[in-house]
Amino acid sequence: MVRNISILGSTGSIGTQALEVIDDLKYIKVWAVSTNTNIDLLERQIRKYKPVIAAVMDESAASVLRQRVKDLAVKVLAGLDGLIQVATMPEAEMVVASVVGIVGLIPTVEAIKAGKHIALANKETLVTAGNIVMKEARQKGVLILPVDSEHSAIFQCLQQKESMCVSMSDVNKLILTASGGPFLGKKRPALQRITPQEALKHPKWDMGSKISIDSATLMNKGLEVIEAKWLFDMDIEKIQVVIHPQSIIHSMVEYVDYSIIAQMGLPDMKLPIQYALTYPKRLTCAVKPLDFTEHTQITFKEPDIDTFGCLALAYKAAKLGGTIPTVLNVANEVAVDWFLKGKIKFLDIEAYIEYAMERHNNIKDPMLKDILEVDSWARACLEERIGDNI
Ligand code: MG
Repeated sequence: MVRNISILGSTGSIGTQALEVIDDLKYIKVWAVSTNTNIDLLERQIRKYKPVIAAVMDESAASVLRQRVKDLAVKVLAGLDGLIQVATMPEAEMVVASVVGIVGLIPTVEAIKAGKHIALANKETLVTAGNIVMKEARQKGVLILPVDSEHSAIFQCLQQKESMCVSMSDVNKLILTASGGPFLGKKRPALQRITPQEALKHPKWDMGSKISIDSATLMNKGLEVIEAKWLFDMDIEKIQVVIHPQSIIHSMVEYVDYSIIAQMGLPDMKLPIQYALTYPKRLTCAVKPLDFTEHTQITFKEPDIDTFGCLALAYKAAKLGGTIPTVLNVANEVAVDWFLKGKIKFLDIEAYIEYAMERHNNIKDPMLKDILEVDSWARACLEERIGDNI
């Protein structure tokens, strides 16, 4: 079990919950923390956990924080270089990658190159650069431990005994469960006038705002399908999404003999976070146990991809491969941001994504620099059209 970690994105939803898990576990030392702009919370974390390095993505916020923590030994760094220092901190054996967005990609790759195990919560890392990341991880012999509840569930279903995974050739398919989000059962006319406030109310999970919107459009599941493809080296055709509104089964593995192993529990991110931190050990966890006499119904249905087009776009991107998933991811990031700011409507999110995907010249087998260039291209492509009816 690792005892020394760095956290990329310690002030976000996953970062703060990871620190709560670390409080409960009591034996882990936090060497480095980082934030995008939330220096108030980062200052409290610095005073509590006494990291050696703290990085702030925003340069001016970094200089404000530097003044505020002058009384402490912590080194406050800024920008992407700062995040890379957090990711490659010599003392850390593991990096919790919980930055939201593509900004997490480079620091995570640097952490792998530096031989750190990764507790991976940043979806963009695998969605945009799955091939590069998994190849690098295999070469360095580092573990990519999923923090996302679905991937943690699949990972747990694949464990035969301590630190030994089954062979993937024994697996028939992966079944990712989806709660269906706040608009489950609704049709497109009803989705026309959805406000950001309505879309942010998730029925089962308490999450950050970007992922809550992704959950409402089903793009979150689409990104998870692509993540699962890379993480478990699985053909996209062998990854199925099933709507399961109660969020009790977090995902399943069907083996070649049609035996299905499911991982269950009440929805609480602390469990997958803790399993990534303590793997291959299981320790007591501060979550409520699941009582089947209280949860007597678990139901399943097929996802409605005619209504929620983002899921179909994600499958399409995964099949096409190359840099198309990067375009999908970035266009989604931009469109969700615009929706949250009231600049575009809920259903425009998928329209903008499709628009960018259709205009992209796919690059097969991209390198990191290609991915970053495509990221900028997709942003520019959409900026030109904001406000237009596309
Ligand atoms: Mg998830």
